[in-house]
Parts: sequence; structure tokens; C-alpha cells
Amino acid sequence: MGIHVTIDRTKQSGVAIMGGTFDPIHNGHLRTAVEVLERYQYASLRIIPCFQPVHKDQPGVTPSQRLDMAQLAITSHPDLSVDAREITRQGPSYTIDTLREIREELGAEEPLIMVLGMDSFLSLPTWSEWKSLLHYAHILVVSRPGWEPDLVSELSAFCEKYRASAPHELQCAPSGRIWLETLTPLGISSSMIRLLASRQESIAYLLPEPVQKYIETHTLYR
Ligand code: ATP
Ligand code: MG
Repeated sequence: MGIHVTIDRTKQSGVAIMGGTFDPIHNGHLRTAVEVLERYQYASLRIIPCFQPVHKDQPGVTPSQRLDMAQLAITSHPDLSVDAREITRQGPSYTIDTLREIREELGAEEPLIMVLGMDSFLSLPTWSEWKSLLHYAHILVVSRPGWEPDLVSELSAFCEKYRASAPHELQCAPSGRIWLETLTPLGISSSMIRLLASRQESIAYLLPEPVQKYIETHTLYR
């Protein structure tokens, strides 16, 4: 007798999170969030702006300005939210600390899915306690134009070991699996937006209009 697993598309399970500097938040982030939510029917997705990036220079705008922009960007989408915990916590924003906190709040059973662009995933072996991240969450790696999945040996072994055989496995357990997903390619980056703004060139349509206005009003990135 076969066992049939049917996925109930109406039942939303899993909390997705997307961390980053969001300096500023843009349509590459937002389209990724929306496509991930729709494709897998996760219950919600939280954008988590860091306070102090561990692997980058300190941003030129303040954490509260990056937070404001993230909040302005998501107001029209009911399943997106901004989680300010890293900014409230201050200090270097280690993802492992954030995952531990969220896991504590969600309880042991709820699937937690950390969404990472391919560029971030490739840098994973430099992250604090990186091999423990899967104790607390799954990792959903999303494609990013310009970044191929050339995994160095350490990361490719990790990927081999924990890779799910189907994406819905990330909703059948609280943590521990990796899935690589291809989304609509959008070659937008915050660095590109900062560069355009510094040259006083247009940043229109790369990011939501309220964020564009905020950057203009506060003369950010000049
Ligand atoms: P910067 O150019 O300053 O590094 P960024 O555009 O890479 O900024 P981050 O805040 O560093 O933005 O990224 C946060 C997360 O979003 C990372 O996991 C990153 O891989 C992912 N991401 C950013 N832009 C895109 C994009 N265009 N497509 C897919 N994923 C993206
Ligand atoms: Mg980046």
C-alpha cells in the first residue's frame, strides 16, 4: 500500500526570514520575498536589517534609516514584515544569535526558513558557527544574477549532506535542510543604487517609490 503525501496549498506553514544590510532595500530583495512566499505558501516572511554587518564596512546611513526604508517598502504586502531585533540588540549582528532567538520564540516545531541569495550562501563558511545554523533553521538559497553555485569543497560537502530532495521538505521539519531555488533574475544591488545616487543619477524603478522619496528627502548616499 502506497503512502500518498498531498500538500495542502491552503495551509500556510513555515516562517521565512531574510537578513541583510538593506542599504537600501530594493526590488531584488522584495521580489525575492514575494516569489518565495507565493511559491511555498509560507505563513509569513520577515525582513531583518542588521545593526552592524559582520563582513562589510559600516553602512553610510544609520541603522534606523535602513529600518525606516525597509518599513516603507513592505507596507502594501500583508505577509511581509520587518523584524527590528538586530537593530534593537545592537553590536555585531551574528545570524546565529538571531536564529537562536527566533527559534526560542517559535518553539521547537515550527519550520523556520532562512532565505539567502547565492552570493551570501557562498560566503557561509566565513560566518560565525556556520555549521550550527541548520540546527535552528533551513536554508533556502535563491539564485542571483552574476553568482554561480561554485561551491568550495567545504560548502559543497555541507550541501551534499543536507540538501533536501524536494522543497516541501523544508515545511515538514523545523530545520536542517538546504534547497536551491531559481527565481526571476533581477540584477539589482544596493551597491548599484548607492553608486547611482552618489552620481545623482536616477534610481527610479529599482526600488519602491516611497523608499526613493525617502532617499531624496534625506539626501542619502550623496
Ligand atoms: P550590497 O550591494 O550592499 O551588498 P545587496 O543588494 O547585496 O547589497 P544585501 O542587504 O547585502 O543587499 O542582501 C540581503 C540578502 O538579499 C542577501 O541574502 C542577498 O544575497 C539577497 N539579495 C540581494 N539582492 C538580491 C537580488 N537582486 N536577487 C536575489 N537575492 C538578492
Ligand atoms: Mg550584498
